[in-house]
Order: sequence, then structure tokens, then C-alpha cells
Amino acid sequence: MHKSVIVIGAGIGGLTTAALLTKEGYGVKVFEQAAVTGGCASTFRRRGFTFDVGATQVAGLEPGGIHAEIFAALGVDCPAAIPCDPACAVYLAGESQPISLWRDRQRWQQERHTQFPGSEAFWQCLDQLFAISWRFQGRNPILPPRNLYDLGQCVAALRPDTLLTVPYGLMTVTDLLRFYDLQGDRRLRQFLDLQLKLYSQVDASETALLYGATALGLCQDPHGLYHLQGSMQVLSDRLEQALNHQGGEIFLRHSVEQIQVQGDLVTGVRVKDLKSGLRFVETADHVVANVTIQDLVKLLGDRAPNTYQQRLKNLPPASGAFVIYLGVKDEAIPPDCPPHLQFLYNPQGAIAEVNSLFVSVSQPEDGRAPPGYRTLIASSFTEPNHWWQNQLDYSQEKELYTQRAIAQLGKFFDLRPDHIIHCEAATPRTFARFTARDRGIVGGIGQRLQTFGPFGIASRTPLKHLWLVGDSVHPGEGTAGASYSARTVVQQIQRNSRKY
Ligand SMILES: Cc1cc2nc3c(=O)[nH]c(=O)nc-3n(C[C@H](O)[C@H](O)[C@H](O)COP(=O)(O)OP(=O)(O)OC[C@H]3O[C@@H](n4cnc5c(N)ncnc54)[C@H](O)[C@@H]3O)c2cc1C
Repeated sequence: MHKSVIVIGAGIGGLTTAALLTKEGYGVKVFEQAAVTGGCASTFRRRGFTFDVGATQVAGLEPGGIHAEIFAALGVDCPAAIPCDPACAVYLAGESQPISLWRDRQRWQQERHTQFPGSEAFWQCLDQLFAISWRFQGRNPILPPRNLYDLGQCVAALRPDTLLTVPYGLMTVTDLLRFYDLQGDRRLRQFLDLQLKLYSQVDASETALLYGATALGLCQDPHGLYHLQGSMQVLSDRLEQALNHQGGEIFLRHSVEQIQVQGDLVTGVRVKDLKSGLRFVETADHVVANVTIQDLVKLLGDRAPNTYQQRLKNLPPASGAFVIYLGVKDEAIPPDCPPHLQFLYNPQGAIAEVNSLFVSVSQPEDGRAPPGYRTLIASSFTEPNHWWQNQLDYSQEKELYTQRAIAQLGKFFDLRPDHIIHCEAATPRTFARFTARDRGIVGGIGQRLQTFGPFGIASRTPLKHLWLVGDSVHPGEGTAGASYSARTVVQQIQRNSRKY
């Protein structure tokens, strides 16, 4: 008999799990509280513009990349996309020429040689760590392992070269800088801090070296970051297409309010249909939660395992995002503008800690804006709790952040008032409403030494037949990360089904 699976949430993690399981013959129902799928990687439309909500660039679309492999396994075409070259143009404090992350390896090597003289040995070491870690990840290890099967998968993914990375396993990126006597190179340090924070949520002093090496190595050939034709929504559309084709079902505007547990076995969920207000219980053999670990604990209520409560208490604070979405005339964009730029920036005024404005510019005819217009999306990190304070004048604060972001963007783009056709902003409160993520936190749990890889949160939960996918679990943030976690959960569920 086919097993039944409920998936809570149709983000990239949930949709990928659902589509793969449906293809394997499972009966799958996905409950999504929003009116569209895709979560942080979805889109919205305003006045002829299509805006990517959160994610704007995609890793893993190259042949052999995780998205490409999953689309191939599902029998759907990989969406059209172009590699970003440079992947990003990074502007350090007070500088008017960017550091360009070229896709071509030699060109990037030349760039870093010019920008950071004397640092080549550091970069070579990062490249080697990346290559080894990448091969390891490609063999589908289950991290962190929670039973003998998971451990066996990890051990099977090991090769002699993997062991070479062990001495680096407890180092941060700054530790490696120290090793090469580069800790005093302030430009290099600032560049690393800016880039790493985008992927690991923390700067070089906290980012686990093995993760940092991967994040910094992904932009180059044969990998790369891609700009999707149409919008980010095409990723979810393809996954939905595969799911529907195989008979899986998605219920939009259906919020899961509770995960039902008997003893230590998960049996189903309580769902609220947000259109009719009706509540019902749905049972299944497995429940896959595409939610943050904070939300998983809420959905379990008093049935949440103590280990989770403890882990949550010890987790470092999560990040939120402030995002501004502009629809502008072409004239606002300088000629030959790269698709992604990053500026050192602090929305609270003085630069207290490393924060940046990460900017994505739509390309002509990429489906996001009518001819003669572009979309310009800029995001910065923000402390989520700040936006939930009772005494905060929320509208005023949002407007203040919007004006500061426009002022910063105005140093590079020509943002005179008649060039801006549409302007809208999202705060953690917006993300909480749109994606149902606890306090609107985004990204995963961060990639510090105590939260990355073997020290992260497992997709196998302490409750039987309950699984966690998405950016809270290994290998972390991003649509590619969520897809890896989905593949892991599918593998675990299939193994589990074979045992019974
Ligand atoms: C501003 C910003 C920029 C980013 N840029 C990039 C980028 O350029 N490239 C990149 O790869 N990544 C980027 N990311 C990260 C990336 O978007 C996420 O890591 C990834 O999309 C997360 O996918 P997910 O499946 O884990 O979860 P989510 O996207 O959070 O999806 C979870 C889904 O579950 C639904 N849900 C939650 N709770 C319930 C419930 N109780 N009942 C029913 N449904 C529920 C939500 O509505 C949502 O649709 C960015 C994120 C942000 C916020």
C-alpha cells in the first residue's frame, strides 16, 4: 500500500520534498497558508512589475547542480536562466570601484590578486576546502546523523580527501586569515564580512570555515549563481507542475495549526482553511514540516521534545530582513550595471556592525518589468524583535528605513522622484504575515561553528515520522540548501518505509 505524507508549507523545501515523494508513489498533500507557493522564493506583482520577494539569485542550476538534478529526476525542464557574471559587484566603504566576483576562475584569481595582494595562499586553501566539501556533499551525507542509518550514509560519503578537512572543522574564516597572517588586511576582512554575512548570517570571525569556503567558492565556474528568466516563481511553478502531474495535491490558504502526536509517533495535523474558517484533522503516515525550528516547536506545543526547547534557548539570535522593492525607469540604472551589487551600509545610521545593502537589478527582457523599466530590489539585515516592540511607531520606522535605503541607493542609481514608478518595503512583520515564519526571521539558523553541518539541526526529529525540511536544517540557507534538505528527507522516508 502507498504511504501517505502531509507536507506543511510549500516553500522550495516543502515543494521539492512533495514532488519527489509523489514521484516515488507516495500520496502527498501539501498545506500552504499563503495564496501562492514559494515562500521566501516567491514573487508578487504591482503595476506591471514582478518582484522577487526574497531570493533573487539561484545556485545549483548548472549541470549536476542540486536544482538541475532534482528537475531531471522529476522529468521537468530546468527553467531558463543566465549565470551572473560577475556574480556580485562589492563596494567597500568609501570606494567607488567594485570588487567583482567573476565567474571565470582565472579572471577572479586576477581580480583578488589585484584587490588583495599577498592573499593568494589563503584563497587557494579556501578553493581546496571547497572542492573537497563539495564532493562530500554531492555524495548525499545525512548531517547531523541521528541514527545508525544516517551515520552509515555519512560514513559512505567519506573519502580519504574528506579527512583532510578535519583539522579545519573547528576553525572560523578569521582563524584561516590569522594562519596566513592576513588578519590585519582590513579591505580583505571587510569584503569577507560582507559576503559571508549574506550566506551564513555572521561575519568572518563567526562563520565556520568549511561553510565559508563553500559560500565563497560557489560563484565560479563550473558552478555559479543564476538569474532566472521570468521570476523566482518559476522554480516553484516547475515543482508544482511535477507534483500535479503525478497526482499530488496542494491546498493554498490552508494553515496547519497543530501537529498531532500519540506517544512518540506523529499521526497528522490540524488544519484551518483560511477561506472558510473551517478546521479539520488530516492524518498521514509521515508529516514533513517546511517551517523554521522555532515554528516547529510552536506547532508541537507541549509535545515538543525537551531537546528542542533546550536547543532553541541556546540558539544565537536569528536575523530578519528589511527589503525595498522599486519599479524604476531604465534611466535610473547606470549602463553595464551588474545584476547584483553589495554596498556597506547600516540602516540604523552609524555603522555599528557589518551590514550591507544587497541589490538585485532586473535585466532587460527578463520578464520582471515592461520595456523601458526595471525592478530594483535591495535588502539589508535587521533585528526582528525591533519591529515587534509595542512602543514602536511601525509606519514611521518603516518609512525611515525606506528613505535611508533610497538615499544609499541614490548614490549609485539615478533615483530622482520621476524615475521611481513604484516603491514598497517589507519588514520582519511583512515576512511573518507572508511566510508565517516566527517573528519574520529569515535564512536559517546561521553557520557558526556551533550551528553548521554536524552541529546543526537534523531533518530527522526526535518524534517518529516527523521530518524537518528547509533552511533551518543542513546545509542551510538558500533555495539550493532547502533542496538538499528535501532530498535528504526523501531518502530517510523511503528508508523508513522499507523497514515496515
Ligand atoms: C531578503 C531575502 C533574500 C534572499 N536571497 C536569496 C538568494 O538570492 N538566493 C537564495 O538561494 N536564497 C536567498 N534567500 C533565502 C531563501 O529564500 C530561503 O532560504 C529559502 O527560500 C527558504 O525556503 P524554505 O523552503 O526553507 O522555507 P520558506 O520559503 O520559508 O517556505 C515555507 C513555506 O511554508 C509556509 N508555511 C509556514 N508555516 C505554515 C503553516 N503552519 N501552515 C501552512 N503553511 C505554512 C509558508 O507560507 C511558506 O510558503 C533570501 C531570503 C530573503 C528573506
